[in-house]
Amino acid sequence: MSAPDPLLEARARVLHDLGVRGLDVPSFVDVVDDAVAARRWWVEQWADGSVYVAGLVAQDVQDRLLDNGMGRWPACTACDDLVPHELRVEPELGPDPQWVCDKAGMSVAALGSLA
Ligand SMILES: [Zn+2]
Repeated sequence: MSAPDPLLEARARVLHDLGVRGLDVPSFVDVVDDAVAARRWWVEQWADGSVYVAGLVAQDVQDRLLDNGMGRWPACTACDDLVPHELRVEPELGPDPQWVCDKAGMSVAALGSLA
C-alpha cells in the first residue's frame, strides 16, 4: 500500500473549507485543482516538503481567488471586527496549518476543519 497522497489530502482539506462556506462549486473547484497541479511538481522535487503542501495549496488558492476577482476566502466570522477580512494560514510554511484571524490574533480552526 502506498502512502496517502499529500496533494489529495490538501485538496480534500481545502474543498472542505470551501464547502462550509458554500463555495464548493465548479469554478472554485477548478481553482483548487489548478493549485494542486501546480504544487505537484514542487512536491516531486522536494519530498520532505510534502508535510507543508496543504498550507501552501490553501495559500495558493487564496491568492488565485483574489487574482481572479473571486473574492477573499475564507471570510473571518470568528471575531468582532466589523471590517471584512479573511483568515490567514499559519504557519505559512510548516506542518499542521491553522486558519488564524490576525485581527484578533486567534487561531480559528485547523485547515480542513472550518465550521
Ligand atoms: Zn477576524
